[in-house]
Amino acid sequence: MEKKVKFEYKEIMANSAKRFYKDHCSPAFDSGDMSIRDLDTGYIYAYPDMKDGFHLYDWPELRAENIAVVDEEGNLIEGDYKPTIEMPMHLAIYKARPETKVILHSHPLWSSIYACAQKDIPFTLAEQGLFLGGATPCAKYAPAGSKEVGEYIVEALGKEHNTALLANHGAVVLASSVSEAFARSLFLEHAAQVAVFAELLGGAKEINMDILLDPSLM
Ligand SMILES: [Zn+2]
Repeated sequence: MEKKVKFEYKEIMANSAKRFYKDHCSPAFDSGDMSIRDLDTGYIYAYPDMKDGFHLYDWPELRAENIAVVDEEGNLIEGDYKPTIEMPMHLAIYKARPETKVILHSHPLWSSIYACAQKDIPFTLAEQGLFLGGATPCAKYAPAGSKEVGEYIVEALGKEHNTALLANHGAVVLASSVSEAFARSLFLEHAAQVAVFAELLGGAKEINMDILLDPSLM
């Protein structure tokens, strides 16, 4: 069967940029990105590399025709735009987690505080257990765009986490849809903010999956 590029996936990505900005996933242009994988073809649709003769100063200006399309190996399939420089990381995650359909890579405020302290976001709220896989681990540091970013983030995510931090950089959220990615991203930021303040009050008290499922264990 011939593999086809689907325009609707480009539209989904272009439309997601509006919410990406509204939800404070990025403080400004060229900072963070998203991709979606078509499980039928394996093609990945991603935000473009904004250094490739293309600068977008307002996320909502992203258009469907600006979306880059690559195969599982990262070869450009269609489009005048190269994908985000973090494409090696997206490819590594998609390879390690075959169920993942959407990756949201953000540079949000509260999660970045943990990323810059190179600390895991502790598991303190029930919704972290329900939606994020518990605590959010911080991966080892690697320069933005390097192959090692992908290696380290895959290692941190393991098979159970849906979120992880890139040391001194930002966050990554895995999901099965765009709306789930944004919901998880908001839960992640909420958990990070709560944990920062809990630390100020003497220390965040962690919970775990066993306690979450059986409160009599507390
Ligand atoms: Zn980044």
